[in-house]
Amino acid sequence: MAEIFLALGSNVGDGDKYFDQAINLLSEKLSNILQAPRYKSKAVGFTDQADFTNSAIYGETKLGPQELLKFTQSIEEKVGRIRRFRWGPREIDIDIIFYDNLIINEEDLTIPHPRFAEREFVLKPMFDIAPDFIDPTSKMTVKNLYDNLPEEDKSLKL
Ligand code: ATP
Ligand code: CA
Ligand code: CA
Repeated sequence: MAEIFLALGSNVGDGDKYFDQAINLLSEKLSNILQAPRYKSKAVGFTDQADFTNSAIYGETKLGPQELLKFTQSIEEKVGRIRRFRWGPREIDIDIIFYDNLIINEEDLTIPHPRFAEREFVLKPMFDIAPDFIDPTSKMTVKNLYDNLPEEDKSLKL
């Protein structure tokens, strides 16, 4: 069984409802799921859009990395994600942050997720469920990465 971490985001409609639906579907292929608290965050990048609900989950799976990507993408679709534009509003976003300690650089799949270490909305919920997990790229723990975020970038609310 591989140990995996996913980051969830939503800023269209009822984020809690989309998260519940997504986790229900994820549980068909993930066991021993741990859910982080759900946070509210301001949009970054394209900032002129609604606030986000963000969380992270841990699970164990027999799916390989590519199978996991296909599975999470099929769940985004089932839950009702409409593709608008890059970094635009979304009903549900499921990103793969870690897959065991693998480093993967494929055309459609980069693990660890290429931008996670600069994102408070990913690191804080990950910190809540797995502070000691080691990022295979930087060799730092999730706690270290979270502590290293500039204080002025921290604005997450429960
Ligand atoms: P960001 O990746 O900056 O969080 P996003 O989540 O809005 O942006 P999407 O439009 O959801 O981006 O996904 C774009 C593509 O990213 C997907 O089609 C997928 O193939 C690719 N991708 C690469 N690595 C990952 C990963 N670790 N988890 C999920 N998708 C990934
Ligand atoms: Ca994302
Ligand atoms: Ca995504």
